[in-house]
Amino acid sequence: MHWVEGNKSLKDKNTFGFDVSSRYYFALRDPWYIKDLEDVVSISNQFMVLGGGSNVVFTQHYNGVIIHNQLQGVKLEKETDRYAWVRVGGGVNWHSFVMHCLAQGWGGVENLALIPGNVGAAPIQNIGAYGVECKDVMVSLKAHDLLDNKSLVLNNEDCMFRYRDSIFKNELKGRTLIHEVTFKLTKNNHIINASYGGILEHLDFKNISQPTIQDIAQAVVEIRQAKLPDPNKIGNAGSFFKNPVIPKEKFNHLKERYPDLPGYGAAQTDSIKVPAGWLIDRAGWKGKTYGKVGVYKNQALVLVNHGEGNGQEILSLSSDIIEDIYDQYGIQLEREVNII
Ligand SMILES: Cc1cc2nc3c(=O)[nH]c(=O)nc-3n(C[C@H](O)[C@H](O)[C@H](O)COP(=O)(O)OP(=O)(O)OC[C@H]3O[C@@H](n4cnc5c(N)ncnc54)[C@H](O)[C@@H]3O)c2cc1C
Repeated sequence: MHWVEGNKSLKDKNTFGFDVSSRYYFALRDPWYIKDLEDVVSISNQFMVLGGGSNVVFTQHYNGVIIHNQLQGVKLEKETDRYAWVRVGGGVNWHSFVMHCLAQGWGGVENLALIPGNVGAAPIQNIGAYGVECKDVMVSLKAHDLLDNKSLVLNNEDCMFRYRDSIFKNELKGRTLIHEVTFKLTKNNHIINASYGGILEHLDFKNISQPTIQDIAQAVVEIRQAKLPDPNKIGNAGSFFKNPVIPKEKFNHLKERYPDLPGYGAAQTDSIKVPAGWLIDRAGWKGKTYGKVGVYKNQALVLVNHGEGNGQEILSLSSDIIEDIYDQYGIQLEREVNII
């Protein structure tokens, strides 16, 4: 097939900046070509969909076909006095979408400003930040099942969203391409969510007492820029591990040993969510280098590529951290990032 490229470098297509390539590569730029995906995946016995590459670790060259979702478009599907339903192409950059919403005066995604990656990947791990998750604003999505070669329409409930989890990381893992997502956003009387992660303090500092959605997004951008490394300057995939949820009893037990251990009530009763970054930091990993990769100096939850590192090094660093955290606290960390 002439539009499938061979031996394509993925160095600028993953935010760790790992120098790997893909045996075959197909850029999906037009929905018209969704019908050809059956032929594309038949080229090899291995395939994967790639968005912005901000939640993947390539541990080696990819020996199959990469389908790079680049479908664009933001369309107002319908509206009432209060709400706007907006259909967005899976290849649209997430932060550009957030900025577009703010420009239109649509509320709901402002707390999710500056999350890297594309709209099509947002439902995969139910992206979330500062008290808001994809599941709070997503209505439905259109996907293509690449194994059965059929179209799927899933509503919010079908996606089985949980904390950094969805049906796409379970039953439908590795077999669908999400090509369009519909969100329901507010046009007025926006629900302002300023209670998480220092937003309120940040607004206080700027003397903003009645924040708009634009103020919230601006605060989130500024807080994130101060805390997280910019992937354009230092390779990373954001939070590398999920925050573990542990039984309250275990939490209380640990609290006796570590009185400053933070914990937050989780959705399940009798469970507490513990910040993985705190555990890793307290275990002494923050700022450590490991060959050409390491743990970010300002945030222990983020693993970084210092330049010429590779995915194998990141994988083995993350395994050492998992083992050490288990030894020290009896807590099993889970990787948030997809290991390829
Ligand atoms: C600095 C930094 C900060 C971050 N902060 C956050 C944060 O606050 N909250 C948060 O939740 N995440 C965060 N992340 C992680 C990441 O931005 C999100 O997971 C994002 O949704 C990944 O999008 P992507 O397009 O880059 O996906 P990719 O990395 O390209 O892919 C991720 C997974 O989704 C699959 N996939 C991608 N696109 C599609 C599609 N269209 N259809 C089907 N499958 C697909 C891939 O096969 C892969 O398994 C951060 C990352 C970085 C680098």
